[in-house]
Amino acid sequence: MTVPDSVIITGAARGQGAAHAAHLARAGTRVVLTDVLDREGENTAAVLRASGGDAVYRHLDVADEESWATFAEELSSSEQRVRALVNNAGILRHDPITDTTLETWRLHERVNVHGSFLGIRAIAPLLVDGGSIVNVSSTAALVGSAGYAAYSASKAAVIALTRVAAVELAPRIRVNVICPGGVSTAMNDDEPMGGTSSLTPLGRRAHTDEISPLIEYLISSAASFVTGSVFTIDGGLTAV
Ligand code: NAD
Repeated sequence: MTVPDSVIITGAARGQGAAHAAHLARAGTRVVLTDVLDREGENTAAVLRASGGDAVYRHLDVADEESWATFAEELSSSEQRVRALVNNAGILRHDPITDTTLETWRLHERVNVHGSFLGIRAIAPLLVDGGSIVNVSSTAALVGSAGYAAYSASKAAVIALTRVAAVELAPRIRVNVICPGGVSTAMNDDEPMGGTSSLTPLGRRAHTDEISPLIEYLISSAASFVTGSVFTIDGGLTAV
């Protein structure tokens, strides 16, 4: 029996990652959800399986080189072929620059930048020909938002990393990056006034399931000529 090709999603225990996993599972894709929130991740995968999806959960700390090595080892010693990697895991802390500690700055680098770099390095060699990587940046990388220095700088690095990876890995693998605006998840629960909603022409944050179709498109053959591209999905925020 052949095992269907898998899509790996980091930070998939909750929020956008969980929504992408659910969306892809509903479309018949085999999804490997990874996160550091093991109980939530196991539950999310179990819910997908209960509704007929092909989903498994694995612990993976994206900031940890060993964690990626162990995960890649497990993948390569299984029959599993990997079609795509979605580098979705991320963290956000907001503080004005003058109150931002070096530790906070480094935390963003470790999770948001090293996480994407380590993911590409570990998984690219395992992807099937024609495979795809989608990195998750943010409109915070494109516009100046007070209080977001560490986060914005880390997400800008993800865009630069994407372009280099797209050039290096072509033509075998396509690499793209998405820049969501405000999305309603636990990440921005504590933002006053809904964060960027008042600056967004559509007047609200996105629902997580409004982002998933873009992920589905980018990892599909419909996007076969799309690589090295930056996709804003932001309710018009960066058009203003
Ligand atoms: P979220 O906080 O609900 O989800 C982030 C997930 O990443 C969590 O499950 C968390 O446990 C996981 N994670 C954190 N550190 C990790 C690590 N070291 N290893 C593995 N997993 C880790 O927030 P979300 O909105 O779903 O965020 C998903 C992505 O979208 C992030 O990269 C975020 O920066 C980006 N983003 C979010 C928004 C927004 O408004 N929510 C906007 C633009 C971009």
